[in-house]
Parts: sequence; structure tokens; C-alpha cells
Amino acid sequence: MTDITIIGGGVAGLTAAIGLQSIDSDFILFEQSELLKGIGAGFGLAANAIQALDYLGLKKDIEKLGHKIQSYNILDQHGKILLAPDTQSLHQQYNQSNFAIHRADLHDYLYAQIPKEKVILKKRAIRFEQNTEKITIHFEDGGQHTSRYLIIADGVKSPLRQQLLPTSIPRYAGYTCWRATINNNTINIDQGSETWGKNGRFGLTPLIGNRIYWYACINSKANNRKFKNYTIQDLQTHFKDYHAIIPQVLEYTKDEDIIWNDIIDIKPLKHLAYDNILLIGDAGHATTPNMGQGACQALEDVAVLMDELKQTQDIKKAFLSFERRRLQRTKYITRTSKFIGKVAQWDNPILITLRNFILKHSPSKWSQHSLEKLLKVNFMELNK
Ligand SMILES: Cc1cc2nc3c(=O)[nH]c(=O)nc-3n(C[C@H](O)[C@H](O)[C@H](O)COP(=O)(O)OP(=O)(O)OC[C@H]3O[C@@H](n4cnc5c(N)ncnc54)[C@H](O)[C@@H]3O)c2cc1C
Repeated sequence: MTDITIIGGGVAGLTAAIGLQSIDSDFILFEQSELLKGIGAGFGLAANAIQALDYLGLKKDIEKLGHKIQSYNILDQHGKILLAPDTQSLHQQYNQSNFAIHRADLHDYLYAQIPKEKVILKKRAIRFEQNTEKITIHFEDGGQHTSRYLIIADGVKSPLRQQLLPTSIPRYAGYTCWRATINNNTINIDQGSETWGKNGRFGLTPLIGNRIYWYACINSKANNRKFKNYTIQDLQTHFKDYHAIIPQVLEYTKDEDIIWNDIIDIKPLKHLAYDNILLIGDAGHATTPNMGQGACQALEDVAVLMDELKQTQDIKKAFLSFERRRLQRTKYITRTSKFIGKVAQWDNPILITLRNFILKHSPSKWSQHSLEKLLKVNFMELNK
């Protein structure tokens, strides 16, 4: 019988596998996909994620794959700065930098660190049976696997979490999102930005390899058929009144490169540890992407879990201590991010004028407070 089974080969599952390997734990990871690769989009790894990677001994390698982000401004739809959060002073305090990275680069790197026989692909977990000694996982193909402990890392739609907690179904945030990566040869962006306007939000982040990652969020009902078939031309029309760089970026994007999905999260859970089962990453605390913290929190999870596992042989006890250290922080992020998303997606012109006025005239209240609460805190020491 294996000691620990991990379900899900995303950032959370792969990093947990690397962590377990580093402490010589007996583990196996099951992933539903045929191929393990990140999607064609980027994400931000903020200073707290870099600290987690540092703890896990992965910082140096992963920083090489990332583009250092010196500043990240919030702009109005004409390109004027609404907010320029002082991330520099916070970086210095944390002694780490912010990076943006392509998902495929990160996945390739993480996957390459794990022996291939420890990762079983094309295995979709559908349910489990749990008693205090062991857990048996059942797969869609009829197979099963038994281990002493289970780490559920199968993302926001996790069927295993929904077996544990049937009411914990994903919540739709009210906006839908397109993402893509393009070549940066002609455009030459070197800093990150997010533009807030009446037709939605548009984010831009440079990546290494002279690439740009962009995303666009538009208010909509859930699973809107009209948006499912949206092309670059439709997005160009939608964002035509936005400052010049946005139509330009869209012009360089091919239809086949766009990824579309509705933005969802889950209501913060009361527990992450269930005796010999632990929920990590989006499976345990999926958040909307408005603070750029979903993957960062998955990395924090793994650093804290390894910190606990290094201190005790009693894995159930480590799972419980993990829960104590992680619940409050992840709940704060889910709630704050949901709130930021609501305000950022306002489409009422009066509210937008009011919001933009407040942002311009009392920026510290908006930007510094939530940033400081996120980055000034040493998450490794929280509720230890
Ligand atoms: C638009 C957008 C922008 C974002 N931007 C950022 C950002 O800038 N910074 C940031 O930190 N985060 C960001 N995030 C969040 C980030 O993508 C997630 O938090 C992160 O990918 C979660 O990792 P995970 O491993 O927990 O889950 P996932 O990445 O969802 O991985 C789960 C894995 O489990 C597999 N799986 C699922 N079900 C099963 C099953 N039943 N059996 C076996 N395998 C299964 C899946 O195939 C997948 O490989 C963003 C998210 C979105 C949607």
C-alpha cells in the first residue's frame, strides 16, 4: 500500500510531489490528462510565492523561467494611471521579487523534477472510500488505488471535494475571461498593467522569451453561448475604445490561441483536513484571479505542509496543523479577491467615475492595505 496518494497534476499536486520526494515520502500522483502540460497562458508569481519556492529549494530555477515584474499599474480605459501600488518597498521587506511566468514553462519544470513512474496519467478519480486506516480511490476507467493518506489537488471543480462536501460547488463570479500569449517583438511591453473600463478589464504582462500574456474579463451570465464562439475580431470590437495598446495586442493574437472560461471560486471551507485526507490548492480554496494569488497560495500550501511533515511522523497531525495555519489566510484572499473583482467589473458609468475618483485620490487605502496584508505577513509563521 502506498503511503500518500496525490490526485491532480497541477501546480499544487506537482509541487506537493516534489516536496514529498525531498523528504523521502512514499507517494504516487494520478492525473486525468493524457499529457501533463500547462495551458497557453501566464500567471503572476508574487513575492510570497517566491518565498514558498525558496523554502522548497525551487526558487533559483523557477526565477530563471519568470519575467521580473517591477511595477503593475491599474489604468483607466484611456491608459491613465488610477493606481500604482508601491510593490517595490514590499518586495524589499519580503526580500523577494514578483515574477510572471508562462504556465507551460512552470509545468514542464515541475513535472521534470518527478520520476516518471511516480506520475500516472489518464487516471480520472471519481470517488473514494475512507476509513481511519486507508483510503481507496476509484477511477473512471474502473481501476482503483489504496493508500494510507490522500492529498486532493484536483482543482476548483474537484469531484473528490464534492464527495466530502456535497454543497461545495463552484460559484460563478459574474464575469467571463479570455486569455492568450503572443509574441512581444513589435509591441515591446516591459511592465504589467490592468485596465479597468466600462466594457470590462484587460490585463497585460510580459513573459520571458519576448512573449506577452494578456487576459480580458467581461461581465456576462454564466456559460454564455455567445461568448463561447467569440473571436479576436469580436474582442477587438468590444475593446475598440480602450487605449491603443489593447487593440494592438488583440491584432497580434490568433483565434486558435485564445482560451476562454467563466471565472469561478469556492466559498471558503471550514476545514481542509479530514482525518487522513487533505485538500490543497484550488481544490481546497479556489479564489477568483483578481489578486493573482491562486497558484501562489497553492505554493504556500506546499511549503507549509512540508514544514509540518518535517516536524512529525504523525501525518494526520501534520494535516491538522496545516489546516490551522492555512484556513485564515486563504479565506482572506478568497474574500478580498471576490470584492476586488466586483469593483473592477463595475459597468455603471456613475459608479466607475466615483471609483476612479477614489482610486486616484486615496490610493493607499485601496492598494497598499490589501497588498501589505498579503505580502508583509510571513505566511510561514502564521498560526504556527
Ligand atoms: C484567468 C485566471 C488567471 C489566473 N491568474 C493567476 C495569477 O496571476 N497568479 C496566480 O497565482 N494564480 C492565478 N490563477 C489561479 C491559478 O491558475 C490556480 O489557482 C492554480 O492553477 C491552481 O492550481 P491547482 O494545482 O490547485 O489546480 P489546477 O491547476 O486546476 O490543477 C488540477 C489538476 O488536477 C487534474 N484533475 C482534475 N480533476 C481530476 C480528477 N478527478 N482526477 C485526476 N486528476 C484531476 C487537472 O487535469 C489538473 O491537472 C488564475 C486563474 C485564472 C482562471
